[in-house]
Amino acid sequence: MQTAPTSGDDESAESPVPLATMPLRSSRASGLATLKQTGNGRWHDWRWQMSNRIRTAAQLQKFIPALADTSEFEKVIAKYPMAITPYYASLIREANLSDPVFQMAVPQTRELWDPPFLAEDPLEEEEDMPVRGLVHRYPDRALLIATTTCATYCRHCTRKRVAGTRECSISAARMQAVTAYLADHPEITDVIISGGDPLTMSTAAIEHILSSLRSVPSIEVIRIGTRAPVTLPQRITDELVAVLRRYQPVWVNTHFNHPNELTEEAGNACARLVDAGIPVSNQTVLLRGINDNPQLMEQLCRGLVRMRVRPYYLFQCDLVRGVEHLRTPLSRGIEIMEYLRGRLSGLAIPTFVVDAPHGGGKIPVLPSYIVTTSPTHTVLRNFEGMLINYPDPVIAPEPSKCHLRMSAAPGVWELAVGKTSMIVPENTHRHSRRDGRATERLSRSGDPI
Ligand SMILES: *Cc1c(COP(=O)(O)O)cnc(C)c1O
Ligand code: SF4
Repeated sequence: MQTAPTSGDDESAESPVPLATMPLRSSRASGLATLKQTGNGRWHDWRWQMSNRIRTAAQLQKFIPALADTSEFEKVIAKYPMAITPYYASLIREANLSDPVFQMAVPQTRELWDPPFLAEDPLEEEEDMPVRGLVHRYPDRALLIATTTCATYCRHCTRKRVAGTRECSISAARMQAVTAYLADHPEITDVIISGGDPLTMSTAAIEHILSSLRSVPSIEVIRIGTRAPVTLPQRITDELVAVLRRYQPVWVNTHFNHPNELTEEAGNACARLVDAGIPVSNQTVLLRGINDNPQLMEQLCRGLVRMRVRPYYLFQCDLVRGVEHLRTPLSRGIEIMEYLRGRLSGLAIPTFVVDAPHGGGKIPVLPSYIVTTSPTHTVLRNFEGMLINYPDPVIAPEPSKCHLRMSAAPGVWELAVGKTSMIVPENTHRHSRRDGRATERLSRSGDPI
């Protein structure tokens, strides 16, 4: 059957990639071809990669001679630092905004353009820090900001307020305070070591953090959030893997955004982790003009699974200052999810989430598969648009019995099962109105009229 082309099918109807704000003499990244020879054999040494990061406009110009005037550029990196490992720079194929790696790594003056609804810390992480460096938002897990250093500073970073502004790591004293808090809160069973990029730290420093966490018996799972497999795959050394292995269960969550990042080096880095029994999953950020395309996302997810990396989250870009030019409408993510389901194994499909402003946490967003319901049937639709009636059992069963402890604070689930009858927002007129009346009633000594 022929279908009429819609605007979504028509590449030319897409809004064009905004014009480069840096004047480019030509688009070829001619300096990059010689990058690999610059290592004098140390290309595969992660410390060499770290100390030879591209950090200044002059250094960048050496590798990308096409960059001409860099005065504007200086202003951007004064606010949001630049660092690009030679390895990651070598993945740039065209030195212009059509190139995904270029866009993710090379600063743009558009980073200085912020609409008023953006914030430095839209997730309000600073409000959820009981001790400095530890974000405790969800009942059972916490996130440790272990360092502010990354191998490459992603232009789309959600922690632009932290990453690269200084390059420092958590002190032993602070780690002690964090450990004490965790020991005091046995409900926390899962700690995510994040940053910055924790794998930019020395293996000894990483081991210190791991052993501190493991000294708290209530911690079951340790996760490491790192972009090292993407921007510094040389970091995944046998020595590091051996250390991680000693503190099992350790999960690694990495951050591939584009198929161009799925190189042999990256694949080997992930393989070293997975072969050692360290599961690797991936968080992608949906980025305008970089990966906001259903077919491209399919290719990325397939590539990840081939590398034994499980696509975990697809993030809507946060409302963070300096990233607005990379943000897509929410509908683009939903459209991508619509495309993936049915075409791709569930194993390869990430959960699309919005990390809500004001510290609301991660909210999954999906196309709706429920068309309608009645007390006896649910009408579902599949990815092809087929409608199916799903009959409920004639006798609704009680849920299976279980005597495990339930969390105390009510949420929407408690509403759904009738354990709570309402959740009332705090700042509505209703609240002040009712509060006033309650006080009045009490002061009238129990007389109802
Ligand atoms: C994302 C996040 C977590 C982990 O969430 P998961 O859904 O378990 O991956 C924990 N704490 C904070 C503050 C987070 O932002
Ligand atoms: S590696 Fe992570 S923390 Fe560092 S700049 Fe990239 S997104 Fe931000």
